[in-house]
Amino acid sequence: MKRRIAVISAAASGIGLAIAEALCADGWLVYAGDQDAAAVAALGPEHDGLAAMVCDVSDAASVERFYAWVESDLLARGAAGIDLLVNNAGIAGPTARFEDQPVDAWNATIGVNLNGMFLMTRRAIPLLRQRAPGSAIITMSSTAGLFGCPLRGPYVASKWALIGLTKTLAMELGPEGIRVNAICPGSVEGPRIDRVIAADAAERGLTIAEVEHEYKRQTSLRTFATREDVTAMVQYLMSPAGARISGQAIAIDGHTESLSLDMEA
Ligand code: NAD
Repeated sequence: MKRRIAVISAAASGIGLAIAEALCADGWLVYAGDQDAAAVAALGPEHDGLAAMVCDVSDAASVERFYAWVESDLLARGAAGIDLLVNNAGIAGPTARFEDQPVDAWNATIGVNLNGMFLMTRRAIPLLRQRAPGSAIITMSSTAGLFGCPLRGPYVASKWALIGLTKTLAMELGPEGIRVNAICPGSVEGPRIDRVIAADAAERGLTIAEVEHEYKRQTSLRTFATREDVTAMVQYLMSPAGARISGQAIAIDGHTESLSLDMEA
């Protein structure tokens, strides 16, 4: 069987790097793009199978340079096309009431989370087509793409939009045998959710422990997810067991009951 090949955005740290490492351990070749040049440079030879380059998904020229590099490397290896695009890049955006959302922060959040998915995906489709049937797109949405979430307007808007695009792309590309799914993690243990909790606590005058308790109380399992939970779903979707799964928004979240907050606090 041909070595499988993935492109993953925002893969120099966090969930993206965890997915990249897991796929590399499974024998994949992974092209990682990330806007953080220092984090890209820090990826060392221990990351066997991982090739990385700076790529800001919100910048069309940066995305173009990234894919030009991917294509020339594929050519040098005598390979054609990719099996998987993981649209992982997404920023949390501001924590503020809707009327207080700064316009530039709104635009930046939509620019990375939504426009970035558009720019990365339109360029990947011809490469995915070369390995169809069986190739796939997985986009990182969020439980904020399934529920309303106070104080997170731009993030919510972008993550709902990604699910609409997932279902649309699944319909456009399905007849060619390209599957398209979204993963919707709940709060994932790690520095990113710690920053979100700290911003929420500051906005509402609560302690960090109170906000963390509130977030866990939003789920039936009273839990946060882990990077490994998310990574395992990517591996499942790319295994034979995932071969008929497309057009889905799959929550990995301990069953979110709602994302409501005590706004009177
Ligand atoms: P993170 O904040 O830890 O960031 C991971 C990487 O994203 C960093 O290396 C950063 O440089 C890169 N990045 C940021 N902007 C970029 C851009 N414009 N172009 C390319 N790379 C960029 O994020 P994470 O926690 O690993 O989250 C990954 C994805 O999962 C995001 O889409 C996020 O919205 C989603 N998600 C995360 C959580 C969570 O609790 N962490 C929950 C639900 C969904």
